Amino acid sequence: MRVIKAIVLIIIFNFSVLFSQSTQRPKNIILLIGDGMGANYVSAAVLHFPNNPFRRFTSIGFSITCAADNLLTDSAAGATAISTGYRTNYYYVGVDTLGNPLTNIFEEAERLNKSTGLVVTCTVTHATPAAFVSHVISRKEETAIAKQFLEKDIDVVIGGGAKYFHETEASSSIINGFDILKNKGYDIYRNANELLASQPNNKFYALLEDEQLPRAKDRNYSLADLTKKVLPVLSQSDNGFVMMVEGSQIDWGGHENNQDYLMTELNDFCGAIDAALNFAEENGNTLVIITADHETGGMSINDGKPDGSNITLKFTTTGHSAEMVGVFAKGPGEELFRGVFDNYMIGRNLFQLLNPDLQF
Ligand SMILES: [Zn+2]
Repeated sequence: MRVIKAIVLIIIFNFSVLFSQSTQRPKNIILLIGDGMGANYVSAAVLHFPNNPFRRFTSIGFSITCAADNLLTDSAAGATAISTGYRTNYYYVGVDTLGNPLTNIFEEAERLNKSTGLVVTCTVTHATPAAFVSHVISRKEETAIAKQFLEKDIDVVIGGGAKYFHETEASSSIINGFDILKNKGYDIYRNANELLASQPNNKFYALLEDEQLPRAKDRNYSLADLTKKVLPVLSQSDNGFVMMVEGSQIDWGGHENNQDYLMTELNDFCGAIDAALNFAEENGNTLVIITADHETGGMSINDGKPDGSNITLKFTTTGHSAEMVGVFAKGPGEELFRGVFDNYMIGRNLFQLLNPDLQF
Protein backbone atom coordinates (compact mmCIF):
# COMPACT_ATOMS: atom_id res chain seq x y z
CA MET A 1 0.00 0.00 0.00
CA ARG A 2 2.78 2.37 1.07
CA VAL A 3 4.71 1.63 -2.13
CA ILE A 4 1.65 2.43 -4.26
CA LYS A 5 1.16 5.68 -2.37
CA ALA A 6 4.80 6.63 -2.94
CA ILE A 7 4.52 5.86 -6.65
CA VAL A 8 1.34 7.96 -6.92
CA LEU A 9 3.05 10.85 -5.13
CA ILE A 10 6.08 10.63 -7.45
CA ILE A 11 3.78 10.66 -10.49
CA ILE A 12 1.85 13.69 -9.18
CA PHE A 13 5.12 15.47 -8.32
CA ASN A 14 6.60 14.76 -11.75
CA PHE A 15 3.41 15.95 -13.43
CA SER A 16 3.48 19.33 -11.67
CA VAL A 17 7.22 19.74 -12.33
CA LEU A 18 6.65 18.79 -15.96
CA PHE A 19 3.73 21.19 -16.19
CA SER A 20 5.59 24.16 -14.75
CA GLN A 21 8.69 23.51 -16.87
CA SER A 22 7.13 22.91 -20.26
CA THR A 23 4.01 25.07 -20.17
CA GLN A 24 4.29 28.81 -20.48
CA ARG A 25 1.81 30.58 -18.24
CA PRO A 26 -0.03 33.67 -19.47
CA LYS A 27 -0.32 36.83 -17.37
CA ASN A 28 -3.81 37.49 -18.77
CA ILE A 29 -6.58 35.12 -19.84
CA ILE A 30 -9.43 36.25 -22.11
CA LEU A 31 -12.09 33.53 -22.36
CA LEU A 32 -14.83 34.10 -24.91
CA ILE A 33 -17.90 31.84 -24.80
CA GLY A 34 -20.32 31.69 -27.71
CA ASP A 35 -23.44 30.33 -26.02
CA GLY A 36 -24.80 27.47 -28.14
CA MET A 37 -21.99 27.91 -30.68
CA GLY A 38 -21.34 24.38 -31.98
CA ALA A 39 -18.56 23.64 -34.47
CA ASN A 40 -21.31 23.94 -37.14
CA TYR A 41 -21.81 27.60 -36.11
CA VAL A 42 -18.07 28.20 -36.45
CA SER A 43 -18.30 26.63 -39.94
CA ALA A 44 -21.09 29.07 -40.84
CA ALA A 45 -19.06 32.02 -39.53
CA VAL A 46 -15.87 30.99 -41.36
CA LEU A 47 -17.75 30.36 -44.62
CA HIS A 48 -19.93 33.44 -44.53
CA PHE A 49 -17.84 36.22 -42.95
CA PRO A 50 -14.62 37.11 -44.82
CA ASN A 51 -11.36 37.43 -42.80
CA ASN A 52 -12.95 35.56 -39.96
CA PRO A 53 -11.01 35.66 -36.63
CA PHE A 54 -11.34 31.87 -36.18
CA ARG A 55 -8.69 31.60 -38.92
CA ARG A 56 -6.19 33.35 -36.61
CA PHE A 57 -6.02 30.50 -34.04
CA THR A 58 -3.10 28.08 -33.83
CA SER A 59 -4.39 25.48 -31.33
CA ILE A 60 -7.74 23.75 -31.87
CA GLY A 61 -9.60 21.14 -29.83
CA PHE A 62 -13.03 19.57 -29.41
CA SER A 63 -14.97 19.63 -26.15
CA ILE A 64 -17.54 16.99 -25.13
CA THR A 65 -20.27 19.06 -23.50
CA CYS A 66 -22.35 16.60 -21.38
CA ALA A 67 -23.70 17.47 -17.92
CA ALA A 68 -23.12 15.05 -15.01
CA ASP A 69 -26.74 13.85 -15.18
CA ASN A 70 -27.63 14.47 -18.81
CA LEU A 71 -26.22 13.90 -22.30
CA LEU A 72 -27.66 17.25 -23.36
CA THR A 73 -26.37 19.98 -21.08
CA ASP A 74 -27.66 23.49 -20.39
CA SER A 75 -25.72 26.73 -19.97
CA ALA A 76 -25.60 26.39 -16.17
CA ALA A 77 -23.93 22.97 -16.07
CA GLY A 78 -21.98 23.73 -19.26
CA ALA A 79 -20.50 26.97 -17.92
CA THR A 80 -19.85 25.42 -14.49
CA ALA A 81 -17.62 22.75 -16.11
CA ILE A 82 -15.63 25.55 -17.77
CA SER A 83 -15.50 27.87 -14.73
CA THR A 84 -14.76 25.25 -12.04
CA GLY A 85 -13.25 22.17 -13.72
CA TYR A 86 -16.08 19.88 -12.59
CA ARG A 87 -19.20 18.50 -14.28
CA THR A 88 -22.44 19.12 -12.44
CA ASN A 89 -26.18 18.61 -12.92
CA TYR A 90 -28.48 20.37 -15.35
CA TYR A 91 -29.50 23.83 -14.02
CA TYR A 92 -26.84 23.81 -11.23
CA VAL A 93 -24.60 26.89 -11.10
CA GLY A 94 -21.12 26.77 -9.51
CA VAL A 95 -22.00 23.84 -7.22
CA ASP A 96 -21.22 20.11 -7.42
CA THR A 97 -23.86 17.39 -7.92
CA LEU A 98 -24.58 17.45 -4.17
CA GLY A 99 -25.02 21.24 -4.11
CA ASN A 100 -21.66 22.09 -2.49
CA PRO A 101 -19.96 25.28 -3.77
CA LEU A 102 -17.06 24.77 -6.21
CA THR A 103 -14.25 27.33 -6.48
CA ASN A 104 -14.37 29.09 -9.86
CA ILE A 105 -11.52 30.64 -11.88
CA PHE A 106 -12.59 34.20 -10.97
CA GLU A 107 -12.29 33.35 -7.28
CA GLU A 108 -8.85 31.80 -7.86
CA ALA A 109 -7.79 34.86 -9.90
CA GLU A 110 -8.94 37.17 -7.13
CA ARG A 111 -6.97 35.11 -4.59
CA LEU A 112 -3.89 35.64 -6.78
CA ASN A 113 -4.56 39.41 -6.89
CA LYS A 114 -5.47 39.36 -10.56
CA SER A 115 -8.26 41.57 -11.88
CA THR A 116 -11.47 40.02 -13.16
CA GLY A 117 -14.14 41.18 -15.58
CA LEU A 118 -17.14 39.96 -17.51
CA VAL A 119 -19.10 41.24 -20.49
CA VAL A 120 -22.32 39.60 -21.67
CA THR A 121 -25.36 40.49 -23.77
CA CYS A 122 -27.85 38.67 -21.48
CA THR A 123 -28.56 39.60 -17.85
CA VAL A 124 -25.30 39.38 -15.90
CA THR A 125 -27.14 37.01 -13.55
CA HIS A 126 -27.91 34.57 -16.41
CA ALA A 127 -26.54 31.01 -16.25
CA THR A 128 -23.21 31.46 -18.07
CA PRO A 129 -21.89 34.58 -16.28
CA ALA A 130 -23.44 33.34 -13.00
CA ALA A 131 -21.16 30.28 -13.11
CA PHE A 132 -18.13 32.60 -12.81
CA VAL A 133 -19.53 34.41 -9.79
CA SER A 134 -22.14 32.50 -7.81
CA HIS A 135 -23.10 29.17 -6.28
CA VAL A 136 -26.82 28.20 -6.47
CA ILE A 137 -28.81 25.04 -7.10
CA SER A 138 -31.00 26.66 -9.75
CA ARG A 139 -30.10 29.13 -12.49
CA LYS A 140 -33.60 30.62 -12.04
CA GLU A 141 -32.55 32.26 -8.75
CA GLU A 142 -31.34 35.45 -10.43
CA THR A 143 -32.00 37.66 -7.39
CA ALA A 144 -29.90 35.35 -5.19
CA ILE A 145 -27.22 35.39 -7.89
CA ALA A 146 -27.26 39.23 -7.93
CA LYS A 147 -26.75 39.24 -4.17
CA GLN A 148 -23.68 37.04 -4.60
CA PHE A 149 -22.28 39.52 -7.17
CA LEU A 150 -22.44 42.19 -4.44
CA GLU A 151 -20.32 40.03 -2.13
CA LYS A 152 -17.55 39.69 -4.74
CA ASP A 153 -14.92 42.16 -5.99
CA ILE A 154 -15.17 41.64 -9.73
CA ASP A 155 -13.50 44.69 -11.29
CA VAL A 156 -15.73 45.17 -14.32
CA VAL A 157 -19.22 43.88 -15.05
CA ILE A 158 -21.13 44.79 -18.24
CA GLY A 159 -24.48 43.41 -19.36
CA GLY A 160 -28.21 43.53 -18.64
CA GLY A 161 -30.20 42.60 -15.54
CA ALA A 162 -30.32 45.93 -13.65
CA LYS A 163 -33.69 44.95 -12.22
CA TYR A 164 -32.06 42.27 -10.08
CA PHE A 165 -29.83 44.93 -8.47
CA HIS A 166 -32.47 47.60 -7.75
CA GLU A 167 -33.61 45.88 -4.63
CA THR A 168 -31.83 42.95 -3.09
CA GLU A 169 -33.09 41.42 0.06
CA ALA A 170 -30.28 41.17 2.61
CA SER A 171 -30.93 39.94 6.16
CA SER A 172 -34.59 41.07 6.31
CA SER A 173 -33.98 44.67 5.18
CA ILE A 174 -34.30 45.78 1.57
CA ILE A 175 -31.01 47.15 0.29
CA ASN A 176 -30.38 48.77 -3.06
CA GLY A 177 -27.59 46.87 -4.82
CA PHE A 178 -26.37 50.02 -6.58
CA ASP A 179 -25.79 51.73 -3.20
CA ILE A 180 -23.75 48.76 -2.07
CA LEU A 181 -21.67 48.91 -5.25
CA LYS A 182 -21.08 52.68 -4.88
CA ASN A 183 -20.00 52.16 -1.28
CA LYS A 184 -17.52 49.57 -2.52
CA GLY A 185 -15.98 52.18 -4.83
CA TYR A 186 -17.54 51.18 -8.14
CA ASP A 187 -18.51 53.66 -10.84
CA ILE A 188 -21.99 52.87 -12.14
CA TYR A 189 -23.21 53.23 -15.72
CA ARG A 190 -26.91 52.75 -16.33
CA ASN A 191 -27.13 52.97 -20.11
CA ALA A 192 -24.96 52.32 -23.16
CA ASN A 193 -24.64 55.97 -24.29
CA GLU A 194 -23.27 56.95 -20.89
CA LEU A 195 -20.72 54.10 -21.01
CA LEU A 196 -19.69 54.63 -24.64
CA ALA A 197 -19.11 58.38 -24.07
CA SER A 198 -16.75 57.68 -21.16
CA GLN A 199 -13.19 56.38 -20.82
CA PRO A 200 -13.46 54.26 -17.67
CA ASN A 201 -10.26 53.85 -15.66
CA ASN A 202 -11.79 52.78 -12.35
CA LYS A 203 -13.62 49.56 -11.50
CA PHE A 204 -17.23 49.76 -12.68
CA TYR A 205 -20.61 48.08 -13.17
CA ALA A 206 -22.49 48.86 -16.40
CA LEU A 207 -25.96 47.33 -16.16
CA LEU A 208 -27.33 48.78 -19.37
CA GLU A 209 -30.87 47.35 -19.34
CA ASP A 210 -33.32 45.87 -16.83
CA GLU A 211 -33.47 42.69 -18.92
CA GLN A 212 -31.02 41.46 -21.60
CA LEU A 213 -29.27 43.84 -24.03
CA PRO A 214 -31.04 44.42 -27.38
CA ARG A 215 -30.23 42.05 -30.24
CA ALA A 216 -27.02 42.96 -32.09
CA LYS A 217 -28.97 44.28 -35.08
CA ASP A 218 -31.02 46.59 -32.80
CA ARG A 219 -28.00 48.02 -30.92
CA ASN A 220 -25.87 51.01 -31.97
CA TYR A 221 -22.88 49.41 -30.22
CA SER A 222 -21.18 46.05 -30.54
CA LEU A 223 -19.87 43.43 -28.14
CA ALA A 224 -16.41 44.54 -29.35
CA ASP A 225 -17.16 48.14 -28.22
CA LEU A 226 -18.04 46.84 -24.75
CA THR A 227 -14.99 44.56 -24.62
CA LYS A 228 -12.73 47.52 -25.47
CA LYS A 229 -14.13 49.46 -22.48
CA VAL A 230 -13.05 46.69 -20.12
CA LEU A 231 -9.49 45.97 -21.30
CA PRO A 232 -7.92 49.34 -20.28
CA VAL A 233 -9.28 48.95 -16.72
CA LEU A 234 -8.20 45.32 -16.28
CA SER A 235 -4.77 45.81 -17.84
CA GLN A 236 -3.86 48.29 -15.08
CA SER A 237 -3.33 45.26 -12.84
CA ASP A 238 0.36 44.34 -12.36
CA ASN A 239 -0.66 40.73 -11.70
CA GLY A 240 -2.72 40.38 -14.87
CA PHE A 241 -6.40 39.58 -15.29
CA VAL A 242 -9.01 36.97 -16.16
CA MET A 243 -11.90 38.09 -18.34
CA MET A 244 -14.98 36.31 -19.70
CA VAL A 245 -16.90 37.65 -22.71
CA GLU A 246 -20.10 35.93 -23.78
CA GLY A 247 -21.98 36.08 -27.07
CA SER A 248 -25.08 35.19 -25.05
CA GLN A 249 -27.76 35.46 -27.70
CA ILE A 250 -26.16 33.17 -30.31
CA ASP A 251 -27.98 30.44 -28.36
CA TRP A 252 -31.30 32.28 -28.57
CA GLY A 253 -31.01 32.51 -32.35
CA GLY A 254 -30.49 28.73 -32.33
CA HIS A 255 -33.51 28.13 -30.07
CA GLU A 256 -35.66 30.23 -32.40
CA ASN A 257 -34.23 28.37 -35.43
CA ASN A 258 -33.76 31.91 -36.70
CA GLN A 259 -30.87 32.13 -39.21
CA ASP A 260 -30.75 35.94 -39.32
CA TYR A 261 -30.71 36.25 -35.50
CA LEU A 262 -28.08 33.51 -35.16
CA MET A 263 -25.77 34.92 -37.87
CA THR A 264 -25.93 38.55 -36.67
CA GLU A 265 -25.15 37.51 -33.08
CA LEU A 266 -22.32 35.30 -34.36
CA ASN A 267 -20.90 38.24 -36.32
CA ASP A 268 -21.12 40.46 -33.22
CA PHE A 269 -19.23 37.78 -31.26
CA CYS A 270 -16.53 37.53 -33.97
CA GLY A 271 -15.91 41.28 -33.53
CA ALA A 272 -15.18 40.68 -29.83
CA ILE A 273 -12.80 37.81 -30.73
CA ASP A 274 -10.92 40.18 -33.04
CA ALA A 275 -10.70 42.80 -30.27
CA ALA A 276 -9.32 40.20 -27.85
CA LEU A 277 -6.74 38.89 -30.35
CA ASN A 278 -5.64 42.45 -31.20
CA PHE A 279 -5.17 43.21 -27.51
CA ALA A 280 -3.14 40.00 -27.08
CA GLU A 281 -0.94 40.85 -30.07
CA GLU A 282 -0.23 44.37 -28.79
CA ASN A 283 0.30 43.45 -25.15
CA GLY A 284 1.69 39.90 -25.33
CA ASN A 285 1.51 37.39 -22.48
CA THR A 286 -2.24 36.89 -23.01
CA LEU A 287 -4.06 33.62 -23.71
CA VAL A 288 -7.19 34.05 -25.82
CA ILE A 289 -9.50 31.04 -25.73
CA ILE A 290 -12.85 30.62 -27.47
CA THR A 291 -15.35 27.87 -26.80
CA ALA A 292 -19.04 27.13 -26.22
CA ASP A 293 -21.08 25.52 -23.47
CA HIS A 294 -23.05 23.34 -25.95
CA GLU A 295 -24.58 23.34 -29.42
CA THR A 296 -28.11 24.66 -29.95
CA GLY A 297 -30.61 23.70 -32.64
CA GLY A 298 -28.82 20.70 -34.17
CA MET A 299 -28.01 23.07 -37.01
CA SER A 300 -26.56 22.20 -40.41
CA ILE A 301 -25.52 24.25 -43.42
CA ASN A 302 -27.62 22.83 -46.24
CA ASP A 303 -27.17 25.17 -49.16
CA GLY A 304 -25.21 28.18 -50.43
CA LYS A 305 -22.50 29.34 -52.85
CA PRO A 306 -18.81 28.25 -52.65
CA ASP A 307 -17.86 31.78 -51.56
CA GLY A 308 -20.09 31.36 -48.50
CA SER A 309 -22.83 33.69 -49.69
CA ASN A 310 -26.52 32.76 -49.67
CA ILE A 311 -26.06 29.99 -47.13
CA THR A 312 -29.17 28.24 -45.80
CA LEU A 313 -29.19 26.86 -42.26
CA LYS A 314 -31.54 24.07 -41.18
CA PHE A 315 -32.32 22.85 -37.68
CA THR A 316 -33.26 19.51 -36.14
CA THR A 317 -34.44 20.80 -32.71
CA THR A 318 -35.44 23.97 -30.85
CA GLY A 319 -33.39 22.69 -27.88
CA HIS A 320 -29.73 21.79 -27.39
CA SER A 321 -27.80 18.90 -28.97
CA ALA A 322 -24.81 16.82 -27.82
CA GLU A 323 -22.61 17.84 -30.77
CA MET A 324 -19.03 18.54 -29.70
CA VAL A 325 -18.01 22.20 -29.68
CA GLY A 326 -14.73 23.71 -30.84
CA VAL A 327 -12.02 25.10 -28.57
CA PHE A 328 -9.72 27.71 -30.15
CA ALA A 329 -6.67 28.93 -28.24
CA LYS A 330 -3.83 31.34 -28.96
CA GLY A 331 -1.12 32.52 -26.59
CA PRO A 332 0.93 31.08 -23.70
CA GLY A 333 -0.50 27.68 -22.65
CA GLU A 334 -2.49 27.19 -25.87
CA GLU A 335 -1.11 23.65 -26.37
CA LEU A 336 -3.23 22.45 -23.41
CA PHE A 337 -6.35 22.92 -25.51
CA ARG A 338 -5.46 20.60 -28.40
CA GLY A 339 -7.24 17.26 -28.90
CA VAL A 340 -10.61 15.81 -27.91
CA PHE A 341 -11.47 16.21 -24.23
CA ASP A 342 -14.31 16.56 -21.72
CA ASN A 343 -15.61 20.09 -21.12
CA TYR A 344 -14.34 20.17 -17.50
CA MET A 345 -10.74 19.88 -18.80
CA ILE A 346 -11.07 23.46 -20.08
CA GLY A 347 -11.65 24.59 -16.48
CA ARG A 348 -8.89 22.36 -15.11
CA ASN A 349 -6.38 23.66 -17.63
CA LEU A 350 -7.32 27.27 -16.86
CA PHE A 351 -6.85 26.59 -13.14
CA GLN A 352 -3.44 25.02 -13.80
CA LEU A 353 -2.39 28.02 -15.87
CA LEU A 354 -3.38 30.30 -12.98
CA ASN A 355 -1.79 28.09 -10.33
CA PRO A 356 0.27 25.00 -11.33
CA ASP A 357 0.27 23.77 -7.71
CA LEU A 358 -3.45 23.00 -7.85
CA GLN A 359 -4.38 19.32 -8.14
CA PHE A 360 -7.72 17.93 -9.32
ZN1 LIG B 1 -29.82 27.39 -24.70
